[in-house]
Amino acid sequence: MRLAPLFLLAATLAAIRPVPVVRAEPPTPHAFLEKLCDDFGPRLTGSAANAAAMDRLASELRALGLTPEKIPFTMPGWERGADRVELLAPVARVLRVAALSYTQPHTPFDAAVVALGTGRAADLPTGDLTGRVGVLAHTSPLAASEIVALATARGLRGVLFVDREDGGQLLARTGSFSGTPIPLPIYSVTQEEGKWLQRLLARGAPVRVRLETRSRCRTVETANLRVVLPGREKSRLIVGAHFDSWDLGQGAMDNGIGTAQLFALAAALRGQPLHHTVELVWFNGEEQGLFGSRHAVSQLGTTPVVAMVNLDMVGPPIAVNALGDDTLVPALERWHASRGEKGRLPKGVENINWTAADHTPYQLAGVRALTFNGPIPRESVRFYHDFGDTIDKVSPKLLDDSTATILDCVRALAADASLTAHRRSPEETEKLFTRFGLEKRLANFGLWPVGR
Ligand SMILES: [Zn+2]
Repeated sequence: MRLAPLFLLAATLAAIRPVPVVRAEPPTPHAFLEKLCDDFGPRLTGSAANAAAMDRLASELRALGLTPEKIPFTMPGWERGADRVELLAPVARVLRVAALSYTQPHTPFDAAVVALGTGRAADLPTGDLTGRVGVLAHTSPLAASEIVALATARGLRGVLFVDREDGGQLLARTGSFSGTPIPLPIYSVTQEEGKWLQRLLARGAPVRVRLETRSRCRTVETANLRVVLPGREKSRLIVGAHFDSWDLGQGAMDNGIGTAQLFALAAALRGQPLHHTVELVWFNGEEQGLFGSRHAVSQLGTTPVVAMVNLDMVGPPIAVNALGDDTLVPALERWHASRGEKGRLPKGVENINWTAADHTPYQLAGVRALTFNGPIPRESVRFYHDFGDTIDKVSPKLLDDSTATILDCVRALAADASLTAHRRSPEETEKLFTRFGLEKRLANFGLWPVGR
């Protein structure tokens, strides 16, 4: 009761004083990312951890006085179950494997194993492969859709593809860019055990395995998270990074790096005068098929967009890349020149398109996109998409250095009044990909021809 007058006094003071703008000191990008990784673990789209981690990001942004909005969408999801691939002969051994996403549960079966080499026509055995499990060499160039096509054509019952990296590593990877359940189980197998199988097969030893898959497809409700920083103009500079990760590690590199850089941009740009409106967006569903960026693009309508900046595993930049659009180069050259000799990037401005990442859906909608060429050290990046993608692979210096360059570029582009909103015609967009011979790659992802 004695507290009542004090409470009233406090309430009165609060009412007459202007509410102070929240200006919390932001955590460093690394401190932010370390907590995100250690408190939630991997952020597979549709998982409870992904949703909880996104809530954490939203509350951290609110603590900075920002107003993040969740943009929900539905997509084909997938969850890993207690899968088992067991070598039955010549020795009994449970193999270390990871199913591709959209692999479905099936009745357990035993099968003879056959070597498929790289999977190219010249490498394939000529006999009947029906009912066998194929082993694809670590040098195989086949995309998941091509593995499915090959397996279906030859009647294979399952496929084990040998990982490109050694040291017991596996490679989480999507089995279907469209989220369609795949018709047979496909597994990543370690280089060591994969080569073991290949050596046995090479000398004609009978090899048998037993496959049991419990991983399953399911529709998931998820969301992108967006912060809009209004500028004098409605024209938007969109900066995106995918928030989701695979489930085997922590997603610290892929794409905790971009997630933390985008968070640092939000902290640095809040309350700043901007010419263009800056939209920051954390996408979900990237790993399984760019579902978040595709959804964001589907909502774009006629929004005037200056450019989209994609931050996916960008280490300290050695170049900025206009991703094949010549009209974007002058603005990037202006920014690069403004940095002087000291801020020069070793490779300056590049203009090379590549695919498929979250910038691709924007490009296909005619929006100009750019990213940075920022290699991550080999000793870290080799753990990509696996167990070892953990926060210990990402140094504070990598995040600080990369963020400083990215922020400088985003600031310059957001202030550049001579850079106006622009959309390419579908014909120009088509050329953006044919010029770099990307049609086949896009077709593998179901994104070609343009405008389909
Ligand atoms: Zn990524």
